[in-house]
Amino acid sequence: MTKKVFVQTFGCQMNVADSSEMLDALALRGAQETADIDDADVILVNTCTVREHAEHKAVSYLGRLEKWKAARSGRVIIFAGCAAQRLGEKLKKSYQFLDIVAGAKGIENFGGVLDESGLFGTERGGDIIKKSAVTDFVTVMRGCDFKCSYCIVPSVRGPVKCLPPQEILARVKTLAERGVKEIVLLGQTVNAYKYETTDFADLLEAAAAVPGVLRVRFMSPHPLYMTPKLIEVIKNNPKIAKHVHLPAQSGSDKILKDMKRGYDGKMLLDTINALKAAGILVSTDIIIGYPGETEEDFNDTLKLVDAARFSFAYCFKFSPRAGTCAALKNAVSDKDVVKRLDILLNKVKGYAAAAYDRAVGTKQEVLVETPYKGRASGNLWVKFPAKQASGNIVTVLIKKSDGTLLYSE
Ligand code: SF4
Repeated sequence: MTKKVFVQTFGCQMNVADSSEMLDALALRGAQETADIDDADVILVNTCTVREHAEHKAVSYLGRLEKWKAARSGRVIIFAGCAAQRLGEKLKKSYQFLDIVAGAKGIENFGGVLDESGLFGTERGGDIIKKSAVTDFVTVMRGCDFKCSYCIVPSVRGPVKCLPPQEILARVKTLAERGVKEIVLLGQTVNAYKYETTDFADLLEAAAAVPGVLRVRFMSPHPLYMTPKLIEVIKNNPKIAKHVHLPAQSGSDKILKDMKRGYDGKMLLDTINALKAAGILVSTDIIIGYPGETEEDFNDTLKLVDAARFSFAYCFKFSPRAGTCAALKNAVSDKDVVKRLDILLNKVKGYAAAAYDRAVGTKQEVLVETPYKGRASGNLWVKFPAKQASGNIVTVLIKKSDGTLLYSE
């Protein structure tokens, strides 16, 4: 009998991509996805541990599944991903109803884990789950070789392992054949990708050349690997989105050094300016309240934001993670963090609105995601006055902006 799988994914796009791969492994063993948890025989919980809050959320979700499991015999619970990697098999002691723990480092062998459990059929040949989303994600590398002082990812995902280009492009082709129009290539430091003679710029062009692919994006790049070759490729290839989400984290040289990011404020701004000069919109991530951050350091971050005029920025309050160096250092007071975050958010909002306003009067190529909305190449949202077919790229004239949305003719 076909098992029905309900998937609950927490965390980043890497996890969304991992869930999709795990679903394929389940589908090969005769399972099919369902959107209805009550109808499901299997729950796959894919978890995140980047912030303590995220891990608590995943574990408390697991706790609530005891009743779900007891409601029908034969139900299976799989706890996967980064929190599963960090907490490991000891989870099974506290949650005895849990069947399978599959850590993020072992995603490639997820099929083997299912087979070893004996809970799934060993017959092959079940239909791969058909998806028709406009956008889907493809992992090109796993793990990270950096050791940023605040980050738990290298310890849960391990060192970098790049997948062979043939494997990546086969996955892109499969998704394109399923009707996916926009591919997002994923890796913790995606632009550090290197497999034999293929670098990330080569991979990006090859993905854009796959028949049926209308647009390619990527995340998350590291500023150190934003090479002139890569910037040229993004600039010149019409299928590659003119947007880069480049995590800055701070504008203070002192804090960047302490974070072990590998660049200083000037190197970062030079890279941002090179991207902008190539017509590419740049958004970012910023951490506020990193231990030891003074008013002067915070002002350096504000100066970076003024100079870079990011089209968007995710601003995070520093979250200490056990097992990272930064967790051991003196925290900035909550009062200062809240005040700084407020100032930063206002500034960031102003520049994001300006990015939208600057697009008024221009023609934009927009990938239609829902009948009345789509995303321009620079990752700005556009609303249409009339219904459009999802998955098409339409060229529209932008009539006005409200600072968070563009309105087309
Ligand atoms: S580059 Fe730094 S922040 Fe990003 S995953 Fe690696 S260690 Fe974490």
